[in-house]
Amino acid sequence: MTRSISLLGATGSIGDSTLDLIRSERENWNVVALTANCAAKKLAELAQEFGADIAVVADEGCLEELRAYLAGTGIEAAGGAQALCEAAARPVDITVAAIVGCAGLAPTMAAIEQGKIVALANKEALVSAGGVMTRLVAQHGTTLLPVDSEHNAIFQCLQGNNVEDVRWITLTASGGPLRTKTLAELEATTPAEAVAHPNWDMGAKISVDSATMMNKGLEFIEAHHLFPVGLDRLRIVVHPQSVIHSMVEYRDGSTLAQLGPPDMRVPIASALAYPARMDTNCQSLDLTAIGELTFFAPDEERFPATRLAREAAHAGGAAPAVLNAANEIAVAAFLAGQVKFTDISAIVARALETYMPAAPETLDAVLAVDAQARERAKLMLEPA
Ligand code: NAD
Ligand code: MG
Repeated sequence: MTRSISLLGATGSIGDSTLDLIRSERENWNVVALTANCAAKKLAELAQEFGADIAVVADEGCLEELRAYLAGTGIEAAGGAQALCEAAARPVDITVAAIVGCAGLAPTMAAIEQGKIVALANKEALVSAGGVMTRLVAQHGTTLLPVDSEHNAIFQCLQGNNVEDVRWITLTASGGPLRTKTLAELEATTPAEAVAHPNWDMGAKISVDSATMMNKGLEFIEAHHLFPVGLDRLRIVVHPQSVIHSMVEYRDGSTLAQLGPPDMRVPIASALAYPARMDTNCQSLDLTAIGELTFFAPDEERFPATRLAREAAHAGGAAPAVLNAANEIAVAAFLAGQVKFTDISAIVARALETYMPAAPETLDAVLAVDAQARERAKLMLEPA
């Protein structure tokens, strides 16, 4: 049976992994929309390879280039924020939401409104929108499948169980490439060092988030919205091998864990085939070769991001959107060489201390908080 699919953020790391899986069973999929920010050449090539109906660049300035690449192919080309949302609203069986940042929120919400399946990688969208997104999911009867490896693990460990029986959800964190660095060494970290993740090959933004541990902070908030067990039942443990992707402990003392190689194709495949399973050529887990699995408590002195995120989750309202927006600005500034690595969490902390608008209750209100928080965070950027 053929299923239709749209991929928001098709040219990124999650996009690559998703299309690799679709390529492996091409006959089962009808690709409708593929989107990118601006990578017109790559997007046009993918749209042709997969026979997409439409290719969209979010940045309208890149539309002309996209049109030129797609001329004569019969594939529609579109550009801009509105076109992105319209493409996301085209009926499909499943949408993979893999844009990075809050930029993916509006198109993800448009996909949710279809009431079908949304496979969510774009954690920033859920962190910023929180209940605004989960209410839309409930309202439209949409199936929201987590692609983030930890949340996909938790989702799998919850199958056949009741959320009321959960004692603990434990998110595992690799600790990133700077896990063993001193504060002084962290201060001097370059963008190249921060993005060199030991286990996972990912986009630049999430790689920096992994290095600061903000990725785990965002995931803590993401888990809170996906799995309503209460914030006091969510915890983080550092597990450098990234073999156990997360765990659920039940009230009888039984803990279920999901294990796998550090390859995003595994959780993506589980979402694409859900509730069935599909073949992948991902390597099998070789536990004797891995030898040891180790676990540590997070060090929130050196890596304050998880504490900031936990506080934002407890504060609720606009706090997670402010945290996320300030982090996006600070990470971009760090990657541009404008601020130090340790400034990222400092900027997020200052944004949370100085800007606390009313809780946003609509998509537009979330986007307004996001825009405001970005402007304020930009004012905090000082030369490194
Ligand atoms: P990436 O930077 O490799 O790709 C991002 C995609 O989004 C690209 O297609 C890009 O063109 C598009 N994009 C960027 N800015 C945009 C904008 N302003 N408007 C519209 N589109 C835009 O990122 P990634 O690593 O693939 O991550 C994507 C999302 O998945 C992120 O939210 C990330 O946290 C999450 N995620 C990624 C991984 C991973 O292994 N890469 C794992 C778990 C979760
Ligand atoms: Mg993750």
